[in-house]
Order: sequence, then C-alpha cells, then structure tokens
Amino acid sequence: MKNQDLVEYLRSCGVCEICQLRYLKARGAEYRNINETLQKLDVKLNENVENEELVIPDGIQPSKRARLGVCSTCLGLFSKDFQNELLNSILASDFAKYDCQKIVLAICLPMSLQLRQLAMWFALQRRFGASIDENNPPDVPIKEAVKLILHPIICEKLAKGYDANGLMINIDLTHSLEDEEVEKLVKLNKEAFPAKASHQKRIEISRGLLEKQYQPSKVKAETYEKYFQIPCSNVEESIKLTSIDLQGPLICVAGRYRKLSRELSHTPWILNGQRLMEDSIEEIIIRHVGPHFTEKLGKITFMSSGREDVDVRCLGKGRPFVLEIPNARRTCLTKDEAFAMERAVDASGMVSIHHLQVVPREELTHIKTGEEQKKKFYRALCALHEPVSVKILEQLQISASFNIQQKTPIRVLHRRPLHTRPRTIYSVKARVHRENPKALIIDIVTQAGTYIKELVHGEFGRTTPSLSSIIGKPMDIQALDVVGIDLDWPHEVDNSKQKE
Ligand SMILES: [Zn+2]
Repeated sequence: MKNQDLVEYLRSCGVCEICQLRYLKARGAEYRNINETLQKLDVKLNENVENEELVIPDGIQPSKRARLGVCSTCLGLFSKDFQNELLNSILASDFAKYDCQKIVLAICLPMSLQLRQLAMWFALQRRFGASIDENNPPDVPIKEAVKLILHPIICEKLAKGYDANGLMINIDLTHSLEDEEVEKLVKLNKEAFPAKASHQKRIEISRGLLEKQYQPSKVKAETYEKYFQIPCSNVEESIKLTSIDLQGPLICVAGRYRKLSRELSHTPWILNGQRLMEDSIEEIIIRHVGPHFTEKLGKITFMSSGREDVDVRCLGKGRPFVLEIPNARRTCLTKDEAFAMERAVDASGMVSIHHLQVVPREELTHIKTGEEQKKKFYRALCALHEPVSVKILEQLQISASFNIQQKTPIRVLHRRPLHTRPRTIYSVKARVHRENPKALIIDIVTQAGTYIKELVHGEFGRTTPSLSSIIGKPMDIQALDVVGIDLDWPHEVDNSKQKE
C-alpha cells in the first residue's frame, strides 16, 4: 500500500488533511506543517480540492464529501474553524480569572467519532486487504491525536504550558448525529456481542467499550454495515461545543505554626451545636492564606502533623501544617505575599506561622504517614504537694527509653474508642522551678500519640507507669508546651528576606 494510494482513497472519502496524516501515522510536530509532511511521505499535494476531479476507487459511490468541508472521520474536530471556536469559548469563560501557568484539556468526545473510526477501518480493509491489521488501528487514534494536535495549538495560543496537574479545561462536545447513532449502536451491540446466557447482564455501551471491543477482529463488517455505512456517511454539520467548565488545580500550601495561646482549639470546637471557642488555628490560618487562592474558603482542608489540646501551647520550631486548596485560582505564592500572610496571622496574637510555601502534592505523605513513628518533645510544668527532693529529681532523670501502657483517657472517651496502647517514652529530664520549690519543669520525649497529662499524673492507674508512680507521690500538671516535632518538613524558607 503506497502512501499516495492511501491518501487518494481517504480524500475520496472526505477525510481532512489532518486526518490523512493520522492515517499516515504522523507524529507530534509533523502535524504542524501539513504540506511538508505530506511531501516527506511521498504524497502529492492536493492543492485545489474544489476543482480537482475526485479519484473514485472501485465500488465507492461518487462523493461530494471533500467539498463539503466537514471531515467524515473527525467531524471537523481538527478544523481551523473548530480550533477558533474552542479558543474563543475558552477566552469567553472564566479563564482570565485563573492565574495558572499550566493547563490541561479534558475533552469529552461524542461516540460518533469512535464509530467513524471503525467504519474507516473496515473501508480500508476492503480497499487494501491484508496490509490493514484487524487488531491494530490503522490511524493515530482520535484521543491521542487530540493530545498531539489540539493541545499544543491551544497551549500556544493561550501562552500556557501543558501540565496534567494544571488548570483543567473540561470541554464537552456533541454532534447532531450522536443520539441517532448511539441508538443504532445499542442495537449493533446486542447483535455483535450477544449475552451468552439469559441471566448474564448485558454490557452497557461506553466509550471505553467502544475503544476496546470495536475492531474488525471482534465485530464483523457485515453486522456493522446493517446499521452504519462503510466508509462513513456524509455529514454536513460539524462537531459542536456544548460546554466549557474550568477546574483550577489542587494547591498545597505548607508551613509551620506555633500556638501561643492556651485558649485556642485546633479546629472549630463545637459541642451539641454550640461553639465553645470563638476561633481556632485552622480558621485563623485559612482566613489569611485562603483568599489568595480561592473564594471558597469552606472547601479548604487543614491538616497538621498531630495536634495539641486547647490549653497546650506549641513552641520551638512549630508544628508542620498544610492547606489543601481545590480549584485554586492561583498557583504561585511569592515571598512577599507569603510574608504578608505570615504577618497577618501573627497579628492574631494567638498563632504564628512561618516557612509558608507552595509544596508539590506528593509531599503531603510527610504529614499523612508515619505519625506513630514520630517523636514528640514536650515541656511540662508540674506540681507536687511537697518541696522537690534530690531523690525525686534523680528519679526523674531518665535517659533510657521505657514503655508504658496507656488506657484511653476518660476526657477523650467520647471521641476515641477504649483501648490500652503501649507507648514509648524516650527520655525524661526534670529540674526545679526557680521560684517555686514544689514545682518541676520536666522535658519529656515520647512516641507520637502519648497522652502527656495522663503520663504525668497516671489517671488513677489508667496509665502505668506514670511519672507520679515512678516517684511514688501525687503529681499534677499545670501547663504543657509542645517544644518540638520530629518532622523536618516543609523545608525552611525565610519569607522576610526577599530575593526577588
Ligand atoms: Zn478530520
């Protein structure tokens, strides 16, 4: 089969030049300069379709298709007119509201295209016989061609890069013949793939099924021809754009927060429909960071590497957190903008954030996994009923790790199941408070998930051993700070130092 013969036959069937190249299996850039590629493939140019006599191969009805202008295989999908319509529709959408450098097109194609691909496959088989493989499509499939042809053109015209995680432009296409053809397709499906037993459920027609099952090795041309023409029927109307829907990318903004207040909950604290605390860490951070990326603050998810109780502060380098922001209008965050957000959060006086930055989505695993293995560093202010003795101080210098058994504390039983969990305490280091001889400041390193208040007082033996049982005296905890979290993520950025 010579390329020239193939192209002449395709032309006679009303196949556009781009689709001719698809049947010549052209790749990437070869679609950009059609004439050059045709010449390279030893195909004579068809410079004036209007006046040229059509070459009508044997057994094919004379056709006006080439003159109608709508390609019988892509239904105009690759025409200049459609490209312009698509571009204009994208520009008329909310596109300008998105400040994203990368885009991705998600085009929902009418099933008619798949049917036409099959019709041409049959036609080529009849025309060129065994040189057309019945298992491998004779063309570059439409879906792939959309990526090779439409994507680069649209990206170039919009001056955007391509990225599967970029702004998604969902494009719905239809064709006036689609309903009619799908109806016929359902009948064809029953005939071509009869259910083997009466109880067997018939497979619903879908694009995936069409792509996989509808090839000459699985559907007979004679069966197909009862419902559809081989080669494809004439069309006068081009493919139509029914809707464009934009979906911004999912952006992840990470940083570390310090909790400076002993009267602030982690997330909105609501009990029996009543708000118990006016604000929360989650809300303060989202309020100042969210609006830069989206109008829908309610869709933002706040996550952190663990959490602290309402009355516990988190100091030191702070706790890593991340905001997951869907359908973001922006993907960038400059150091200036990040620093302004950090200052706005700091102004709350209750939370402070730093190292604010956009991070790749894959890095979220740092926050989501390995929680149990992480070490936590605490500083507790504890009180005895008597002055601290040397013996007590010695008992509370523990450098070798030890295990405790901890029952779910009574205070969290309403939201956590009752279990006894083993936890590792890595070290304990106590010193006497400078101003109060009955008070101890104790630095404790534990496995994540340890309840520190209960580790100190023992909760009537529900945690054993406890610091209280170790010294054999009652001990209360007055205040607790988290002073370190064993997670070196996200990397440190000093947004106050502008490099831009
Ligand atoms: Zn075409």
